[in-house]
Amino acid sequence: MTAIWWLRRDLRLDDNPALRAAANAGQVLPVFICDDSVERLGAAPKWRLGLGLEALIQRIEAQGGQVFLRRGAARDILLELAQAIGADTVVWNRLYDGAAIERDTAVKTALQEAGLSVQSYNSHLLFEPWTVETKSGGYYKVYSPFWRAVCDRPVAAAHAAPNVDWASPSEVQTDPVSDWALGAGMQRGAEVVQAHCRIGEDAARARLDHFIGCHIADYKARRDFPAEPVCSGLSENLTYGEISPRRIWAAGQAAREAGEPGAEHFLKELVWREFAYHLLFHEPSLPEDNHREGWDDFPWRGDSEDADRWRRGCTGIRFVDAAMRELYVTGTMHNRARMIVASFLTKHLLTDWRLGRAWFEDCLIDWDPASNAMGWQWVAGCGPDAAPYFRVFNPDGQAEKYDPEGTYRHRWIAEGADTPSDTALSFFDAVPKSWAVSPGDAYPAPIIDLRKGRERALAAYEARKG
Ligand code: FAD
Repeated sequence: MTAIWWLRRDLRLDDNPALRAAANAGQVLPVFICDDSVERLGAAPKWRLGLGLEALIQRIEAQGGQVFLRRGAARDILLELAQAIGADTVVWNRLYDGAAIERDTAVKTALQEAGLSVQSYNSHLLFEPWTVETKSGGYYKVYSPFWRAVCDRPVAAAHAAPNVDWASPSEVQTDPVSDWALGAGMQRGAEVVQAHCRIGEDAARARLDHFIGCHIADYKARRDFPAEPVCSGLSENLTYGEISPRRIWAAGQAAREAGEPGAEHFLKELVWREFAYHLLFHEPSLPEDNHREGWDDFPWRGDSEDADRWRRGCTGIRFVDAAMRELYVTGTMHNRARMIVASFLTKHLLTDWRLGRAWFEDCLIDWDPASNAMGWQWVAGCGPDAAPYFRVFNPDGQAEKYDPEGTYRHRWIAEGADTPSDTALSFFDAVPKSWAVSPGDAYPAPIIDLRKGRERALAAYEARKG
């Protein structure tokens, strides 16, 4: 008996229900398919996916197995492969964005019609979206009641990696992962970004252990200070499934039971991710369409030179530029900084949130379809449970509060500094030559007067209401 394990966003052996089911069924053939969902990814998440995949391939090869890699339509490849090796079962872990659900439903029907047994499992979430309902049977659009509905629910225990009898059939061909050129879109210095990545399941577990051991106690009090290493960084690994949310939940719960002051807050943040998936499942157009009514005719600006200066970390507003450079160099950005740059783009620069969402989608190594869409709509004011549009972050005020010593800004801005930091200088190694920037340049003047930008945003908001 051979089972095909269709790998997607679950690049791990630990606590992987589909892999466990496959291992119980017989020999296991892991398959990764480079289909449209992979081809469509932004440059950084596509490149980072390739690194995660290579790490898993090495792990499986060390156990005597082999991951079969194919490019094309999942349905055709799975059918062909199952026939070639005589597999009778195909398993995978579920995904929740509209395109994935549509594809998986069609694949399941085709495989079943061909006589195969098909099973799917939950490994990506703690609480699958359809299992959480309001009292009236709808879905939650506000976070706090969602949290109250799930916080005391039992979460299944995480399982260790199973013993697997790997299949390595000689009759099927596999592509070398390098043939897919998953990093081809990385116009920026990939090696600069890679120095900041933590790839694979061992790295993810080490990250979790380090966070629980060293930072969870300070998490609630210090998590908003972007210069401090208090946050877990686990979003990078969760995105590719290099760690299971159940493992993280269990570690957070144990810390809570041990009386760690930041533990509950950490669990609440994990549940923001769940909430984002809850929303995306029930509103598949969340990445594209304003959630709130009345926003479709808001006078957002389209692309502009201002938006370009924002992308390039060259607005002359130091906190914004520091954050955009952090994004460019590390592929991630601190949560407080994400809120500030998103507010600056959508409010001070009055720019359509979808433009910012798309730039994040291209640059973030932790890009997540649900959290990114929710985060942008939340900041822009048109999303579920959103920050009101009239609450406009002042980036300078935020800098005084959350970066009082200027450590974060110094870490990411070289121009004008007597002794620029290595990280700030590395931005200039990462950017394409066509940007023609150098650490010796004068730091740019602000592209907008913060007070005037705020007034323009509020006027647009008032006009919309009227
Ligand atoms: P920690 O503070 O250690 O939190 C632990 C985990 O909780 C995170 O790994 C993440 O899975 C979850 N989490 C924490 N905060 C949030 C939040 N606000 N929303 C949803 N989940 C959360 N997160 C992504 O993973 N991918 C994205 O593409 C993404 N885009 C965003 C865009 C905007 C405009 C905003 C405002 C937020 C976005 N976030 C996104 C949410 C958040 O910024 C990141 O999850 C967080 O910064 C990740 O760092 P961490 O792992 O150190 O988080």
